[in-house]
Amino acid sequence: CEIEISKDEDVKRMIAQHPCYSKEAQHKFGRIHLAVAPKCNIQCNYCDRKFDCVNESRPGVTSEVLSPQAALEKTKQVLEAYPFIKVVGVAGPGDPLANDETFETLELIKKEFPDVTLCLSTNGLNLPDKMPELLRVGVTTLTVTMNAIDPEIEAQMVSHVSYNGKIYRGLEAGEIMVKKQLEGIKMAVEAGLVVKVNTVLVPGINDEHIIELAKKINELGVFIMNVMPLICQAQFADKVAPTPAECKAIQDKCAPYVQQMRHCRQCRSDAYGLIGQDMSQMSEERRNVIKL
Ligand code: SF4
Ligand code: SF4
Repeated sequence: CEIEISKDEDVKRMIAQHPCYSKEAQHKFGRIHLAVAPKCNIQCNYCDRKFDCVNESRPGVTSEVLSPQAALEKTKQVLEAYPFIKVVGVAGPGDPLANDETFETLELIKKEFPDVTLCLSTNGLNLPDKMPELLRVGVTTLTVTMNAIDPEIEAQMVSHVSYNGKIYRGLEAGEIMVKKQLEGIKMAVEAGLVVKVNTVLVPGINDEHIIELAKKINELGVFIMNVMPLICQAQFADKVAPTPAECKAIQDKCAPYVQQMRHCRQCRSDAYGLIGQDMSQMSEERRNVIKL
C-alpha cells in the first residue's frame, strides 16, 4: 500500500544520507555526535572508561560532557552552519542507554529538527528494556557493539556487567550480554530500525569467531557490519592490534553474509562534520573555509 511505499522511500533516503551506512554518503553528508552520556553499565576490557567509548570513539576523547540543553544549543549552531549534516547521534562517552540524558536530548532535538535522522550506539545490554523509549523519541538508525555470539568468548571481552542492580562476571556476564544483544537487535529490526553492528576485532579472542556472528546477524536482518580493529588499552594494553590486512581478511570472510562497512574512522564521541574531517578538532579558520 501507499504508506508502506513511502516508508520504504524514507528508509532509502535515510540510508543514502547517513555517512556510516552508505559509502557514497560519507563524502557528502555529515553527522554530529552529542556527548551527553557519561555513565556505562558494563566494563569492556578494551576501554579505560575515562572519557571514551570504543563503541564509537578513539581514546581519550570528548572535550566535555554536555547537558541536554547545551547539546541542543550546539546542534542548532552546527546544523545552521553546516546543513550537510543530516544525522544527529549519541555515541557516548559511556553507554547512551545507561543515561536518561540521552532520551531527554534526543527528544529536544526531534522537536526542533523533525527531519534529521536520530542515531544512537549502544553495547546492547539495555536495548530490550529501552526499546519503547527509543521508538518514542524517534531513533531510526541504531548501532549495537557486539563482539561474540558465544558467551564464553564474550566473557573474555568484558570484566563485568551491571544489570538491574546486580553485577555479573565471567560466563554469566557473557551470557547476559549475548542474550540481551540478540533480543534487542531482533526487536529493533522488527520495529523498523536500520541496524548496524560494530565488532571489535581482538586477535586471539574473537578473530576466528566473527564469521559466526556475521551469519547470525544476517539472520536477524542487520543492515551492515563494521569490524573495527582493537585499540590496545586498559586490560588489553598488552595485546597486539590487528593489522589493516587482518581486518580486511575478516571483513572479506563476513561479506557474503552481511554488508561490510569499510570506511569507519573510529570517531570521537563529540565529533561532527564529514567522517574523517572531524570539525570538533579543527581551528575556527578551517571550519569557516568548509562553511563557505
Ligand atoms: Fe567503554 Fe563503551 Fe564498553 Fe562502556 S560499552 S565499557 S563506554 S567501550
Ligand atoms: Fe560512523 Fe565509525 Fe564514526 Fe561511528 S565511529 S560515526 S560508525 S565512522
